[in-house]
Order: sequence, then structure tokens, then C-alpha cells
Amino acid sequence: MSKLTADQLKNIAAKFGTPLYVYDANYITAQYAKLTAAFAGSNTTFFYACKALTNINILKHIKAIGCNVDCSSINEAKLALLAGFEAGRVLYTSNSIHFSEIEEAVSLGIHINIDSISNLEKFGKKYGHGYPVGIRLRPNIMAGGNLKISTGHDKSKFGIPVDQLNEVLEVVAENNIHIQNLHIHTGSDIKDVEVFVKGIEVLFDIIPHFKELSSIDLGGGFKVPYKTGDAETDIPLLAQKVKEAFDSHPVAKGLQIWFEPGKFLVSGSGYLLADVNVMKETANTNFVGLNTGFNHLIRPMFYDAYHEIKNISNPAGPEKTYTIVGNICETDTFATDRSLNEIREDDTLVFYNAGAYGFEMSSNFNSRHKPAEVLVKDGEAILIRKRDVFEDLLRGQL
Ligand SMILES: *Cc1c(COP(=O)(O)O)cnc(C)c1O
Repeated sequence: MSKLTADQLKNIAAKFGTPLYVYDANYITAQYAKLTAAFAGSNTTFFYACKALTNINILKHIKAIGCNVDCSSINEAKLALLAGFEAGRVLYTSNSIHFSEIEEAVSLGIHINIDSISNLEKFGKKYGHGYPVGIRLRPNIMAGGNLKISTGHDKSKFGIPVDQLNEVLEVVAENNIHIQNLHIHTGSDIKDVEVFVKGIEVLFDIIPHFKELSSIDLGGGFKVPYKTGDAETDIPLLAQKVKEAFDSHPVAKGLQIWFEPGKFLVSGSGYLLADVNVMKETANTNFVGLNTGFNHLIRPMFYDAYHEIKNISNPAGPEKTYTIVGNICETDTFATDRSLNEIREDDTLVFYNAGAYGFEMSSNFNSRHKPAEVLVKDGEAILIRKRDVFEDLLRGQL
């Protein structure tokens, strides 16, 4: 997959300043094309899990390339509609939400996956058979890069445990609810295709209980490589396994297959650019202090995530060992003892794979400003979010 070059990124940093998030629209297009090409032989629909990156310009791009959208809050659903998605292309996979949000989702006319028996019951009482709906099930499968991003295991808060199927069936029967979709999402960073196959088996066992299904929703979580040699979900293999499973099932072969990729579509499209404030040599560590921190990119501190980093100001410099840290008053380490081209104060570093759960998880911690965002499209770099200014910190305060 082609990346923006160091020179392109350097020019963008010079034009817009740092810290800065940069996204490459062409990359998102290419990732979506990979999915649709691999799954061309199946009746598959993709919903971009937009919690990975919700800038309205990204949503508009996702819409333009023909992908649908999956939302994790009612506000994301409103953003999607604002971006121009028709309601039928918006899916709302909720969890732990007040029933009023589901009522609002119904009023918007979007697809809904309900994730608790409690809300399913309230839904049934109010809407009965009148509004087709999906249910999110918890398959009790352990999967995903680590426990924090694993959502389908038997202690996870997400979904209705499959072992409570009888209760679900009672609620559905009592209220004559039209269940149109069965959903699972087992986690993020899933490289093993067999996890999806296991999920399919769990759902296939349940299919006979629901006579009005139109889709099976396998969630997202496709793994992307964060460093050279890192594994990626084998999408063509996944497509083949999914096709085999669905084709051989008497009912499932007539159903749509839904996926909700977030990270897969946008992670590699994103770059975080930051400048070096301070070099600090100590007896055992060579610190590089940046003008960013976990307030802008929390993944390394929160998930122990690895992000490739390069010094684009000195790409031919001799390699040395550095510990890259942020400017937040907390332990704020991006990388420990990393080998990089010689770094000097005011150099610009780039973090790769910063498109998913980067800006989206940023905060104003330490009363620091959130960075600006730029979208590169058709060779042109466009500002899609202004950098915070001081007044933003006071907004809403009385
Ligand atoms: C977060 C989430 C996704 C996307 O996960 P990725 O790892 O970004 O692909 C998909 N579906 C649901 C319900 C989610 O919560």
C-alpha cells in the first residue's frame, strides 16, 4: 500500500504546522476496494465503524466510495446523516445506552442492533413488529489483540450472551419483534480468520430460531500491520471461508453478510506529525520530547500499541537509540529505545498508522489544544479541522 512520502508530509507540516493529523483519502478508497474485491462473490455489505475516525469529511469520503456506516452513539448516527448517508445505510450498534437513544434512532429510521435483553423488551413493548431490528449477541469467544479490545468473551459487557438465547426468544415471541439481523463483534486486531469462522458457527446454530432474518452481521476487527513483518487479517482467505460457510447453509445462503471494519479502512491512512521540543540525554536514556502527547495519541499508553515512527527531517542521518516521549505531565511514552535517524531539536517526526483511534480518542488533558486535521485528496492537502485555540478550552465553562 502506498504511503504519503516523507517529502509530502514535510511540506504539509510546513504549511499547517504541528502537531497535525494527516489522512490520505486514496488509501481509504484502496482499502475499501480490497474488501469489495475479495468479497465480490458474496452478498456482502460493509459498514465503516466510524468511531475510529468521525471527521465529517472522512464520513463524506466513506459515503462517496459507496461504503455504509456503523455508529456507536446516537451522535455518530447524526453525524453520518449530516454527512449525507441515507438512513438505510446507517447502522447503530449500541451498548449500555438509555432506551431514549433507541427511540431517537427509530425516529431517524436507521438500522439498530440492540445489545441487552432489557432494551429489547422495552423496544418490543413500544414498537412490537413495526420496526425490524437486530440483536447483538455475545458469542463467548476470546479474540482480539488484547483484553482491552476483546469484546466477545464470556466476561465482556458487550452483547446478549448466547447462553441467554431462551430469554431472548421469550421476549421476541411475547412482543412479536421482527428480528432482521444477528450481530457479533468479537474484538479488534483479529488476525486469525478462524475467529470469524467460529463466530459464524455460533450464529448459524441460532438462525433457525429467527424466521425473519435478512442479514448476519460479523462485526469488524480486521487486523492491520503496525510494523514491518506484522500480520494482517488475510482478507481473501476470510472471504473464501465466509463464502464457503454461507453457501453451504440452507438459510444463510439467502442472507446478506454485513461487516463493520473501522481500523482496516482508516488506520493506515493516518499520520500524526509532531516536532521535537527538547532533547534530553541521561546516563541510560536518550529522551526526545515532542510537542504532542497521549492527549493526542493515546494508543501506546492505553493499549501498549506500537506505532512506527520516523524522523522525516533527517532521513539519511545515522541511526541512534531514542526514547520518544510526550509533553504531558504523566508518564507519556510513545516508544522506548527505538532506533531512528539522528534526531535534533525542531525536527519533525511522523507516527504511522495514526488514522484509527488517534484524533478520535484525543483530549484536552493538561489544557492543551487538540491538533488540526488535514485530508489529502487528489494530490491536494485540505484543512478539515482547525487546531484548537485558547477559547476552545473555555467553551461551555461558566
Ligand atoms: C469498534 C467496533 C467495530 C470496529 O472495530 P475495528 O477494530 O476498528 O475494525 C466494529 N463494530 C463494532 C460494534 C464496534 O464497536
